[in-house]
Amino acid sequence: MTTDQFSVRIWGARGTVSSSDETCRKYGGNTACIEMCCGDETIVFDAGSGLRLLGNSMVNNRIKRTHIFFTHCHYDHISGFPFFAPFYSPDWQVDLWSGHLEGPDKTQRMIREYMRPPFFPVGPQVFSADVNYRDFEFEDVLTPVKGVRIETMSLNHHDGCVGYRINFSGRSICYITDTTHTLGEIDQNIVDFVHETDLMIYDATYTDAEFPQFWNFGHSTWEEGIRICQAAGVKRYCTFHHRPSRPDDDLDDIATAARKIFPQSHVGREGLFIEV
Ligand SMILES: [Zn+2]
Ligand SMILES: [Zn+2]
Repeated sequence: MTTDQFSVRIWGARGTVSSSDETCRKYGGNTACIEMCCGDETIVFDAGSGLRLLGNSMVNNRIKRTHIFFTHCHYDHISGFPFFAPFYSPDWQVDLWSGHLEGPDKTQRMIREYMRPPFFPVGPQVFSADVNYRDFEFEDVLTPVKGVRIETMSLNHHDGCVGYRINFSGRSICYITDTTHTLGEIDQNIVDFVHETDLMIYDATYTDAEFPQFWNFGHSTWEEGIRICQAAGVKRYCTFHHRPSRPDDDLDDIATAARKIFPQSHVGREGLFIEV
């Protein structure tokens, strides 16, 4: 049955490195991984450590095809990649998409260079699924499956990073991580890109109070995300890419503070499901 359901489920909301601290149980310690359902199609954004459990769930749900879009390949966005169960099943098709690197064959190169000795014992030739490598450039518009239109932009991050706007059935969701901003200056490129979107997931690694100490680390703040939402008429907001050291209690406090300023705010956590 075809539906026009459009939703996200978070499988990893942590940034930088996964965290198994006692104090991180509520929001989860796995790194960046998002499942997006566009009608009958399931697509994935980033392959952080959260990808492992998502892969198991997809196998259990007997899905046979998906696409994985990379924002970039820092370890917190790729570490779960080799542990995605569908790669080891011959009846699966997985398309991999990336656009942050330069030169030819960039997606295949990224995977080959990541999965190789002595850093990893085997290469992607061990996959039995039908794996396709798809390259794009910043600002390309992608149509991976019928009815899904994905806009892309270049974010402000070391080694390059792609921001995504996924449009489906008259609605949109924006996935904007990892990116930084200039203190006191809103990033107009992002404001234009996320204009009136139904949901923006945003790099909220820091707080405004912490930011001056980390201004050149390539990340942003939860308050900056709200300023973007307000400037761009965004409908719902979800913070993402939490510092590994940020305990659940602090994230609860951020949730309360964020809702006071922008009532339609969520703090990203593993298992969080949002339908737009
Ligand atoms: Zn990251
Ligand atoms: Zn990064």
